[in-house]
Amino acid sequence: MKLVINNVSFSYKSVPALRNVCFELGKGEILSLVGPNGSGKSTLLKCIDGILKPHGGTIFFDGKQTCSMSSKELSKVMGYVPQSMTGAASMFPFTVFDVVLAGRKPYIGWSVSEKDIEVVANILRFMGIDDLATRHFNELSGGEQQKVMIARALAQLPQILLMDEPTSNLDIKHQLEVLQLIHCLCRNMGLSVVMALHDLNLASRFSDKMVMLKNGSIFAAGSPEKVITEENIVTVYGVRAHVSLTRLGKPQIIPLEPINPQPVKEIPARIAIV
Ligand code: ADP
Ligand code: MG
Repeated sequence: MKLVINNVSFSYKSVPALRNVCFELGKGEILSLVGPNGSGKSTLLKCIDGILKPHGGTIFFDGKQTCSMSSKELSKVMGYVPQSMTGAASMFPFTVFDVVLAGRKPYIGWSVSEKDIEVVANILRFMGIDDLATRHFNELSGGEQQKVMIARALAQLPQILLMDEPTSNLDIKHQLEVLQLIHCLCRNMGLSVVMALHDLNLASRFSDKMVMLKNGSIFAAGSPEKVITEENIVTVYGVRAHVSLTRLGKPQIIPLEPINPQPVKEIPARIAIV
């Protein structure tokens, strides 16, 4: 498996969101996209998944242009976990099992097969959410919903998993659990991952490669040691930080303070607490 992002650019009407983004991903690799809010992470994931069509550049999956692949073909090789759960599944009372079974859509012919049921049951067990199978998706906590959405994407049996802030609703234990499960799938099954992450320490710990975006362009790319530096963080985020190496040799940051803090404004009388 090889994913090549070649010079990809995208604009929303006249607002440029991505400029000449290039990187490559091999089988079993984990790549984290980091960068401040609005730097283009979600837009890039949507371009890779084919939800948005790049205005410039090309994306190749195993040498084939993804824009020439049908959505069914694409969904057999890529699973996408969106940032928010505001899709249809969160409005209707589908069970967790049915939501994950919907991930089998690219494979289901006239009816659901025994294999589809088995794949879903195995993935629910793997993700540690088999006890939620008969619960209604819209009655779950944000963290439980996030795990279900990852399970749904895994049910597509993709070669590449695209995840937009997969840990944003999870407490620290579940953040580690989910990223360890994903890491295990990459190391043992050759799954490849591109994920947008806000937490630079988690990104550093779990990624083989990182891409740091600033205003839609790549500011830094490569190993976590190359990307997570005090200089890059101050330039891209405007935050002074202390970076040290963990026992495993991965950079770890402690944010110190913003370089240009917003001036404290006078609180209008209407919203003053006392
Ligand atoms: P990130 O995920 O890094 O926070 P996004 O990819 O969501 O960044 O956004 C990149 C830029 O594109 C931002 O300037 C954002 O305001 C803009 N943008 C995102 N979605 C839309 C949209 N649907 N319409 C117009 N502009 C958008
Ligand atoms: Mg985003």
